[in-house]
Amino acid sequence: MEDSFRHQGLRKLLVEELRQKNITDENVLDAIGKIPRHLFCFDTVFLKHAYEDKAFPIGSGQTISQPYTVAKQTELLLPKKREKVLEIGTGSGYQTAVLCELGLKVFTIERQRVLYEKSSHLLDQFGYKARCFYGDGYAGRPAFAPFDKILITCGAPRIPEELKKQLKVGGRMVIPVGEINGVQTMLTLDKKSENEFEIAEHGSFQFVPMLDNTDSAV
Ligand code: SAH
Repeated sequence: MEDSFRHQGLRKLLVEELRQKNITDENVLDAIGKIPRHLFCFDTVFLKHAYEDKAFPIGSGQTISQPYTVAKQTELLLPKKREKVLEIGTGSGYQTAVLCELGLKVFTIERQRVLYEKSSHLLDQFGYKARCFYGDGYAGRPAFAPFDKILITCGAPRIPEELKKQLKVGGRMVIPVGEINGVQTMLTLDKKSENEFEIAEHGSFQFVPMLDNTDSAV
């Protein structure tokens, strides 16, 4: 599939829209301006809406996050080149691509096999070097810990203890926490020492649920 002038033009408009919605990190806006989001939408029905600030179904009952949400979460992560980041919920791979474009070393976990296969293939085709894993995000990836940053892109009922452990002291986690299938509050957790976290709230969002082992995976 191609990235036409029309797609590029729509992308510019999307970047302007995000700027108006108060996304200020120019590196994040640049990354969104570069990445062909329409190629991450999987379902051609939604192609023409790919540059509207909306979430879309990507199959397996999941969605590609709204561009504003991707931009906001990325900005809150305070990303710096070469940092190691763990993403929970690869989904379409679009957020993963944004993190790669910012020069981060990305590890990403998806619990739905079909999505894991599609997104890891797509990221590979684009030449993004993210390490993709199929598995349960609650467990993180201890073998690659500690991470400078951890980003959760599904709505978590609680802050997973295991992920707090895998965050570096001085690192930051961005996580939407709240009722499953309800509204979540976007939180940042700054790890001050092994057992001390500074938590701040950044508004309300709605995500598909972060499911745990006991819920059935597809
Ligand atoms: N970052 C994605 C957002 C996808 S929606 C994007 O840009 O498209 C959230 C994703 O989290 C879904 O694909 C869902 O299957 C996945 N997910 C839910 N619970 C999870 C868990 N416990 N571990 C890993 N992934 C999970």
